[in-house]
Amino acid sequence: MHPAPTISHNYDKHSLPYYIRRRIRWFLGDRSPFLAYLKVTKRCNLDCYYCPWHSSATDFSGERTTDFWKARIEELITLGIRIFFFEGGEPTLRKDLQDLLDHCHAHGAASILSTNGTGAMWRFRPTSFTVSIDGPEHVHDAVRGQGTFQRICHNLEKRGRNRVAAITVISPDNKNYIEPMLEQLAPLVDAFLFTFIYPYHTVRVKTLTPQETEDTKRRLLKLKKTYNILNPATHLASPTGTQKCEDWLTVAVNHEGRTEHGCFVEHVEKKNCAACELGCFQVASSFYHFNFEAWFNLHRLLLRTL
Ligand code: SF4
Ligand code: SF4
Repeated sequence: MHPAPTISHNYDKHSLPYYIRRRIRWFLGDRSPFLAYLKVTKRCNLDCYYCPWHSSATDFSGERTTDFWKARIEELITLGIRIFFFEGGEPTLRKDLQDLLDHCHAHGAASILSTNGTGAMWRFRPTSFTVSIDGPEHVHDAVRGQGTFQRICHNLEKRGRNRVAAITVISPDNKNYIEPMLEQLAPLVDAFLFTFIYPYHTVRVKTLTPQETEDTKRRLLKLKKTYNILNPATHLASPTGTQKCEDWLTVAVNHEGRTEHGCFVEHVEKKNCAACELGCFQVASSFYHFNFEAWFNLHRLLLRTL
């Protein structure tokens, strides 16, 4: 049995007054972000066929020190950021990861650890975890390597009181396997977040047709009645590109420490919002739009401390 986590976060205590303050500042025209993605390493133990981000598990080139990341976290907190995603690569490969998570918590911020779920994730104590899952076993393993799905399930069975959301990037390869995946994983995770693969011009990816995207969104909308799906109903029910995206709410820091504001697509090429269904930005935008469902679900399922 996994021991009860010893979390000393104070995010809960601060989150409501913080949100009220931010809403007032946003109302007055302030456009500073509230959420940061920290790519603390590009190293990874897997080799997913579509991944442009990682290098081998031992390539430390460009990686920044503990002190660098602590200073950057403090700087971002001063800007008003209170939710930090730790991602990579595979962030659990960093030996100082808990130290960095604790640094966020000590400053009243929440941490979400985005992992591929194959490593020793329970050694860490973030506010919550997200685990990347591409579908049921044969679909997931085809992307991430033989045996990875079973390793994740084995890990999830031991999650104890840790909060976990599964994140799935929907592609032509897995769009028909969403229902069996939800059924199998529902007992193992608290929530699901779906994002559609973006139709980059400069990165080779297989994308859904607009009709396939709309059909899949309609299925997800129905599935929300049965499963904890974090994608806001407002976005699932609307045609692609019709909901305003507030990408200024987020900032990313890459593994070399370079800060990149806003939309991930624009870090690669000119964005096309009319073709975009990036779920993480939809959830973040819903905060700004005062979407009660997004606020309630994210707090209840991921950010409420134990
Ligand atoms: S687990 Fe993530 S970082 Fe690692 S290869 Fe796969 S997609 Fe890339
Ligand atoms: S491309 Fe997507 S994430 Fe970027 S600003 Fe447009 S809708 Fe938002």
